[in-house]
Amino acid sequence: MPETENGWLPDLLYRDGKFESGVALFAGANGRTTRFSREPEDLRKAERLSGRALLPGLVSAHSHSFQRAIRGRTERRTAAGRDSFWTWREAMYHTANRLSPDDVYAVARMAFLEMALSGITTVGEFHYLHHSPDGTRYEDPNLLAKYVVQAANDVGVRIVLLRTAYARAGWQMAPNPGQARFITPSADTFLSDTEELRQWAKGRASVGVAPHSVRAVPLEYFMRVVEYATAQRMPIHMHAAEQPAEIDACLNEHGVRPIELLQRHGLLGPLFTAIHAIHVTEEEIGFLAQAGARVCACPTTERNLGDGAVPADKYREHGVPICLGSDSNVQIDLLEDARELEYHLRMKKLERAVLACGTEPENLAHSLFESATRVGAASLQAGHEADFFTVDSNDPAIAGASEDSLLSHIVFSAGRSAIRDTYVAGKAIVQDGRHAQQAEITEEFRTVQRKLWS
Ligand SMILES: [Zn+2]
Repeated sequence: MPETENGWLPDLLYRDGKFESGVALFAGANGRTTRFSREPEDLRKAERLSGRALLPGLVSAHSHSFQRAIRGRTERRTAAGRDSFWTWREAMYHTANRLSPDDVYAVARMAFLEMALSGITTVGEFHYLHHSPDGTRYEDPNLLAKYVVQAANDVGVRIVLLRTAYARAGWQMAPNPGQARFITPSADTFLSDTEELRQWAKGRASVGVAPHSVRAVPLEYFMRVVEYATAQRMPIHMHAAEQPAEIDACLNEHGVRPIELLQRHGLLGPLFTAIHAIHVTEEEIGFLAQAGARVCACPTTERNLGDGAVPADKYREHGVPICLGSDSNVQIDLLEDARELEYHLRMKKLERAVLACGTEPENLAHSLFESATRVGAASLQAGHEADFFTVDSNDPAIAGASEDSLLSHIVFSAGRSAIRDTYVAGKAIVQDGRHAQQAEITEEFRTVQRKLWS
């Protein structure tokens, strides 16, 4: 084994759709997986991870880390009478406008800490807090994006910063002061700011673009952003069809539905991921499939906000891959998102094993786990780094699983306490359920919470 190579030997290792014993994983100094080995000499040299199963790191492809600040603070009825996504959004704006740059860092660090503890090794951060609360640009227009990247770097989680374009409240709508921090009126400014961030981020993060939605970004602006990102081969993420009102607004402005609009203008493609994509027609699903695009479902957030259930069965039929995101971060537990993708359809259709493909025992768990890992990595263009997590096979939630049922035990029943170690680029960021900066990160977050809520 070269000196620069590290190896790990768990009881069981998940690869190619099954768990195997007697296999060690090796990573080079560059943090990339170099090989798997069954050679006795390699097994002796590898670090023994006893009582552990090792799995590839989870990918949350869609997060707004700052929204961790409102967790637990919006679970009540407001004076609106009928509460919805839209009343929640006002509460979210109110808090977003009270966060200083240091608060943005502290809240992001808390969210990323919880991600690390839950086995998430890569986050796609859909970042739209750009300016000071009254909309004035900071001297460095990427100040807040850089604080968020710094927070991920400090926790050790890999980050893809999806820099968000947001131009307006909506078609023919008066500006909403709650959105002043998000707005960049000109596409030229957005693109030069994004390019500046991309240069700065080298070695720290990768950068993608996120035209917020067809509501918030006019078509011409949208086209400029997609043209730039396509030339640079950057991921393109967009909220789409989360709520029915968005569809009506798009029909009023353009005469077509959001996904159809993008299809007509050639804006869908393999770099494109539609976030939520709940209220879609079969034709729109077909457009995403033809373009080789993906969908990102965020089931824990979608149920929390009353958005609806992603028609994952229809996407499956058309061959559109689905990844997962923790989105509002009301919960950070990507395995819960994976099982909810299936459970929401069970509740709707009064059936079981809706997303299973044939009768192979572990294929349902495998396909949900692919959504939580490989599809998310593809959506964010994350590479083949040695990012992985371990579970304790004696954890009460999964104890008694056999090698050929362990993935179903993990996907359907494991809580976060079963997750013990998290590695990014071959480096342990969580060991035995603890992160080295956990106490400090939590205390700093508590200080922000006291400021916001007392
Ligand atoms: Zn979102």
